[in-house]
Amino acid sequence: MLRSKFLWQLYTTLGAVVMVSIVVFGTLTLAQLQIDTRLNIEQSLTNQAAILRHYLHPYLEAGDQITQAELVSLVEGGGARVTVIDAEGVVIADNRQEPGVMDNHRERPEVLQATSEGFGVSERFSTTIGENMLYVALRVQSDQAYIGFIRVAIPLADLEAQHAVIRNRLMFSASVIVAVFLGIGFLAARRISRPLAQITEGASLIAAGHYDHRLPKRSDDEIGRLSSTLNELARQTEERIEDLMSSRNQLAAILSGLTEGVIAVDPNQKILHMNESAGRMLQLQSNVAIRSPLGDVVRVNEVRQAVDTCLSELISVNATVKVRDSTLDVLVAVLRNSDWESAAGAIVVIEDITEMLRLEQVRSDFVANASHELKTPISAIRGFVETILDDEQMPDDIAKKFIGRIRSQSARLDTIVNDLIHLSRFDNYALKMELATLDLGVLLRQIHQSKTEDASDADLSFHSAICDTAVEVNGEIKALEQMVVNLVDNAFKYTPAGGVVTLRLYTLGQMGVVEVEDNGIGIPEDERQRIFERFYRVDRGRSRKQGGTGLGLSIVKHIVQSHHGSVDLVSEVDKGSTFRVSIPLMVAEARNRV
Ligand code: ADP
Repeated sequence: MLRSKFLWQLYTTLGAVVMVSIVVFGTLTLAQLQIDTRLNIEQSLTNQAAILRHYLHPYLEAGDQITQAELVSLVEGGGARVTVIDAEGVVIADNRQEPGVMDNHRERPEVLQATSEGFGVSERFSTTIGENMLYVALRVQSDQAYIGFIRVAIPLADLEAQHAVIRNRLMFSASVIVAVFLGIGFLAARRISRPLAQITEGASLIAAGHYDHRLPKRSDDEIGRLSSTLNELARQTEERIEDLMSSRNQLAAILSGLTEGVIAVDPNQKILHMNESAGRMLQLQSNVAIRSPLGDVVRVNEVRQAVDTCLSELISVNATVKVRDSTLDVLVAVLRNSDWESAAGAIVVIEDITEMLRLEQVRSDFVANASHELKTPISAIRGFVETILDDEQMPDDIAKKFIGRIRSQSARLDTIVNDLIHLSRFDNYALKMELATLDLGVLLRQIHQSKTEDASDADLSFHSAICDTAVEVNGEIKALEQMVVNLVDNAFKYTPAGGVVTLRLYTLGQMGVVEVEDNGIGIPEDERQRIFERFYRVDRGRSRKQGGTGLGLSIVKHIVQSHHGSVDLVSEVDKGSTFRVSIPLMVAEARNRV
């Protein structure tokens, strides 16, 4: 507290004011008191002279001698020097000196003044006494003429002594007053500066970021109001900062949750924000420092050029960029300053369009493939019909053969269209699912039974290894049936006569597993991923001969996905293939939903 600068400034100012006031007041008072003392002494000398004049008047009038002894006895007790002077200036008597040795006093200033005014005063050196004296002379009047003068004097040293006493008392009083005032002043200065020091300390804490700090509540004066204003300021700042933080966190959460990559840069291309998606798409390190130059962080030239152009020409720039296997759509939008003339920065929005492009490709391939697949039987049917119509002489047995071909081609058309219908249905499967709890064991046993005849027609052994316990899943029975039938049909189609096909069901952890194993032609490794694509076939001619459409496995994949399962394949060329479908069991499904 005693180190408070303000306290000492206030105190020294207060002290200076007290000192100056006391000095001015003391000086003026001393001067006035000196004047008053002098006047008092003059008055007292005058009174004394007047009394003496009254006593000595008869002597002067009669021209009687006044001895020094008489005069001494007359003024006994008084410390003053008394001189009786006749009208000519001759000293008649003096209580301190023999009149005979004294000069004529006619020309003394007080006598001269008394001659003309009746009263005279002067301050001068006395040659008789040998020191500075204050003289007061009164004229002694008789009728029309004056008959002499009574002069009373005291040494100026007496006056000085009285002045010194006054001065000392005054100085003592002044010192006491100064001491008292300085004491009170210190307490007052401390009373004012202490809350200010506390406020300053509190304000410094608030300014340093401790917005929760509050100054103590004070009385309703200016300092009290200053504390509450600062408290209010701190509260509002705290609120604003909380708002800003929560907005910033919300924004950061929104940006980090976006699948689009977002980068914000300032006009100098320093990164202000970058979300995880942007880092992932541009294949950057995860810990990109804020304020790093974009050029140092992003190595993709097209993105840097797009940002350059955007900031220099103040236009939005769109670019399609290849980063490794991904295709990115980059939009750089300019952020303008309020003057609309300069850039405050730019926002880079990056969208990974690889999947979209792939889907577009798949769609257009699908249309092309579907058209092609449909065109073949339609052209064949048309050819047979036209041949029959053109040749009226055609023998019946040939016509029958052609009609038989027309029937088989239309059956193929029917199969393709049915597969397409199934595919489109399972494409939107999630929307239309009619789910129920079903036992895969029951379903597989039915399928095994119904397909046994087909197997023997194809000269194949069709085994089953279905577990005895119920394997309950949440699914749509028709879809799951179609899935297993497609896999079994494929196994029959691609296993030469004499082969073995096995249908298995077992549980593995929380999954029900359906396996269709054959010892057929197998699938080359590089084809294994693609066979699930629509219309994809390893051997187109063989598939077609077998009545395949190239859609069977694609339908299987969609059904498995819509049941939250997975499908995988183990295969070896000329040794056989095993398709394994895993579907979550009812218990696991229910738990996942919770
Ligand atoms: P497809 O109607 O041609 O059978 P799928 O979509 O069912 O169409 O199968 C795609 C391709 O995968 C088939 O053409 C075939 O080449 C291959 N394939 C499917 N299942 C098997 C299997 N069990 N053994 C060997 N190849 C198979």
